[in-house]
Amino acid sequence: MSSLVSKRVQGLPPYLFSVIDEKKKRLQEKGVDVIDLGIGAPDLPTPNFIVERLIKELQDPQNFKYSGYSGCQEFREAVAAFYKKQYDVELDPTTEILTLIGSKEGIAHVIPAMIDIGDAVLIPDPGYPVYRTATYLAGGECIDLPLDPKNQYRPIFSQLSQSICEKAKLMFLNYPGNPTAATVDLDVFEEAVAFAKQHQIGVIHDSAYGLVTFDSFKAPSILQIDGAKDFAVEFGSLSKSFNMTGWRIGYVVGNREIIRALSKVKSNCDTSQFLPIQKAAAEALNSDYKTVEQNNAVYNERLEKMLDALKDIGIHVEKPKGSFFIWAPVPTGFTSQQFAEKVLEEAGVIITPGNAFGPSGEGYFRISLSVPTERLDEAVKRIKSLNLEVTKHVPNH
Ligand SMILES: *Cc1c(COP(=O)(O)O)cnc(C)c1O
Repeated sequence: MSSLVSKRVQGLPPYLFSVIDEKKKRLQEKGVDVIDLGIGAPDLPTPNFIVERLIKELQDPQNFKYSGYSGCQEFREAVAAFYKKQYDVELDPTTEILTLIGSKEGIAHVIPAMIDIGDAVLIPDPGYPVYRTATYLAGGECIDLPLDPKNQYRPIFSQLSQSICEKAKLMFLNYPGNPTAATVDLDVFEEAVAFAKQHQIGVIHDSAYGLVTFDSFKAPSILQIDGAKDFAVEFGSLSKSFNMTGWRIGYVVGNREIIRALSKVKSNCDTSQFLPIQKAAAEALNSDYKTVEQNNAVYNERLEKMLDALKDIGIHVEKPKGSFFIWAPVPTGFTSQQFAEKVLEEAGVIITPGNAFGPSGEGYFRISLSVPTERLDEAVKRIKSLNLEVTKHVPNH
């Protein structure tokens, strides 16, 4: 009998986390206290004022109807006000902003809105795995956009071959970056917009960590660049900045043509988010951002502790300016997978092997700082006592 499942889904790359997940389960069954620094979702609660607004809106039966397809006006106006205040960028809430059921949903749906089968998409390597899998599911061809640590994980557009430049239809960027924690200043966005103009391609900037920054660094928006709206859209999310992962609320802003196309795809798939959630999210965006600062202070403290612990075992990483990740090289003699397994077996701590984020991630690992600080302290203690000297690890080929 032929398969009931499409060749495309059958061909989806195997989930690299599965080996580690199985090991985690086995260790937990043996009574090991496993600390998960793999998962990239905040442990901190959604701020109270947002929950209170949700409760209030839940009591109004007017809110139980379908939302408009592009989301409720209050939410889109709050996004516009946020862009004006944060970046001095003007946006028309009707044509340049669209509500999303989390930015991941929007990222997955915008690809078929922009490419045809066989079109090529430039994908950051290493990068957030959804860009790659969603491109593949949309029938696109993934082309690696190499991010070199020697260039602070910024693309070098002049090094892309002429054939790649001619073939590409779309390019993804993501700063502050997952998994690299790399940040950029406006010059990189300026180059990206110039590149897009020269080759007439679309640019998608994923700004999921746009507000998660340290040491007074302010992450820029690609829309601050003149002419960006001719080629680019930017995705934003309340998941990481307001600890709202499970609420599923985000937005996309920028180029009207792309936003209209995404809206067309989405209106055939969903009917936007539950109105009380959109209204509570508007409350968050209209706030004074004190809670965002408080969260960032918590991540900053965790970040410094973990960087010190890594230094103690000989792994030196420059302090990142954004995201809640540490991206670090594995000690010599290990592959990413081998090191992640060693840390799990000997310290009971889950880290993500870098190769889960693309071929160039090999040789690195990612630590997520999104566990309660006491748990992180415990993880720090265990990592400090890892012995990397005596283990003469022979890599198996
Ligand atoms: C978490 C994350 C997202 C998805 O966020 P949601 O709005 O919760 O869907 C998108 N991009 C990156 C890089 C992320 O890390």
